[in-house]
Amino acid sequence: MSRPVIITCAITGTRPQKTDNPAVPISVTEQIESTHAAFEAGAAAVHIHVRDDEGQPSSDPERFAAAVEGIRHHCPGMVIEVSTGGMYRPLQERATALAVGADMASLCPGSINFPNGTYRNPPDTVRALAERMWALGIRPTIEIFDLSMLYAARALVDQGLVREPLNLLFVVGLATGLPARRSVVDFMIAEMKDILPSATWTASGLGRTQSLAQDWSLYRGGHLRTGLEDNIRLTRTELAQSNAQLVERAAQLCIEYGVRPATPAEARAILELPAAH
Ligand code: ZN
Repeated sequence: MSRPVIITCAITGTRPQKTDNPAVPISVTEQIESTHAAFEAGAAAVHIHVRDDEGQPSSDPERFAAAVEGIRHHCPGMVIEVSTGGMYRPLQERATALAVGADMASLCPGSINFPNGTYRNPPDTVRALAERMWALGIRPTIEIFDLSMLYAARALVDQGLVREPLNLLFVVGLATGLPARRSVVDFMIAEMKDILPSATWTASGLGRTQSLAQDWSLYRGGHLRTGLEDNIRLTRTELAQSNAQLVERAAQLCIEYGVRPATPAEARAILELPAAH
């Protein structure tokens, strides 16, 4: 039986607007519909941010709760991950999504410049988010935007703030972050295997580097992330029609690599999450 690969769809993010791509789901209703289509196309996991009525990043716990509830209802068993990130949210609001019943949450263990500002994750914030996740039984996905964050992830384990096996997301292709170079991903995966041997992982490329990073992920035994948060295009000149279309492409890539999209139940087993009920 071929290896099950978790396809995570990052449906919205904080940045893309409908003027960039009309398919970006902004309202909670749109998010639920977009996630459902992505689920049907083979996504076993979804990563969500919410927006306000003006389409700007929001920390509103009611919106997060409505999104989680709707996705649970329409996408049975799907792994739901909420964001604790976003440059535009005050630090004290970044935990609001943790109490709404998600399975997982993103956790970035360090700070980094983005092209338009600094994505701040001071030690106190990282610790507070990790402790809150632990208390609520939420598994973190550790987002690695820079090499030092990989070692910071190990330090979180050593400090007893997160437990192994960790789930890691390596993000490349950010202009001010790690370049989408295969040698960079290869090095990080080799280091990860040394210091966090039980970790599950995904390499994710932003913008036009998305497909490249997916190739490297599958080649090295990782999982896949796609979605309009990371990339609004299907090709250099063509906008993606939907999150589902990006998931379909990821599922097709799995077939080319002789693996297959994981079912939600398989994704839960791989990530050591409780079975859905
Ligand atoms: Zn995100």
